Amino acid sequence: MSEQRRLSAGIDIGGTKIAVGLVDRSGQIVCRQSFATPKEFQSAVSSITLTLGELLRAQALEFSALAGLGIGCAGPVNPRTGLVNNPYTLPGWEGGNLITSLQSRVGLPVYLENDADAALLGESLAGAARGFDPVVMLTFGTGIGGAALSGNAVFRGAAGEHPEIGHVPVMRGGAVCYCGRSGCLESIASGAAIEKAGQEHGFHTARDVFVAASVNNSRAKAIIDQALDATACAAWALLHTFLPQRFVLGGGIIDDHFRLFASAIQQSIDAAAMIPRHEIAVVKAALGNDAGLVGAAALAFRGTG
Ligand SMILES: [Zn+2]
Repeated sequence: MSEQRRLSAGIDIGGTKIAVGLVDRSGQIVCRQSFATPKEFQSAVSSITLTLGELLRAQALEFSALAGLGIGCAGPVNPRTGLVNNPYTLPGWEGGNLITSLQSRVGLPVYLENDADAALLGESLAGAARGFDPVVMLTFGTGIGGAALSGNAVFRGAAGEHPEIGHVPVMRGGAVCYCGRSGCLESIASGAAIEKAGQEHGFHTARDVFVAASVNNSRAKAIIDQALDATACAAWALLHTFLPQRFVLGGGIIDDHFRLFASAIQQSIDAAAMIPRHEIAVVKAALGNDAGLVGAAALAFRGTG
């Protein structure tokens, strides 16, 4: 193979924003731009290509200087075929193919992963998961995202899909989940779940519930305690399934409440008699919102050696 290319492009696609950046092999972002997510698939592809062209021009580079393009996209997406199927956060994009559309525009290899997997790859290359394997990452925000890395590869299931850790059952008869079941981790411990439970007691947002719980409001405390119990229960299942060297916690809720959630998971680790619990630790994600962009770019380096 010819000389290794120093940079690749990372593209982080969310429901409200798309970030495009040039990233080096150590995971450092050289430059980046972001813009509001277009409603139509084809205009998104055009905007991504234009933005990438601008970033390259500013560096006096051409598309051919890149190792490739990596995309982390709010799922469900199919990383093998490139198809987007996300009516929840990308309505109007269904049936769009990110891999073939971008490949034909830029003439480079294009790789696609679910955004949770991309974030874990970013943390693995340059963040809190660096040097550890296996790793499980949980992202607590409006919903709960999850990803697992084992043997230096993201864990894939049937049809190349990624695990839906937010729907691990944690409580029989618990809150109803949009997936059709009830008592899922996501329907109890996500920001949306905490907000919904709080509204039944006069709170407006999840943040209000956390604040009230911190000053021992009994109703708020019961909601947060239930979320922490649900997290500890899911962690127990994940610990015994994956034996991860590191649990990486990320997302908006963790930014403010890492210690609460980490100690709930640590209690599960401390109680686990059947696994090497002293080799397992909980850490906070280090790259914040950049994890998806860095991990997406890492896909291109992985694909091209
Ligand atoms: Zn569910």
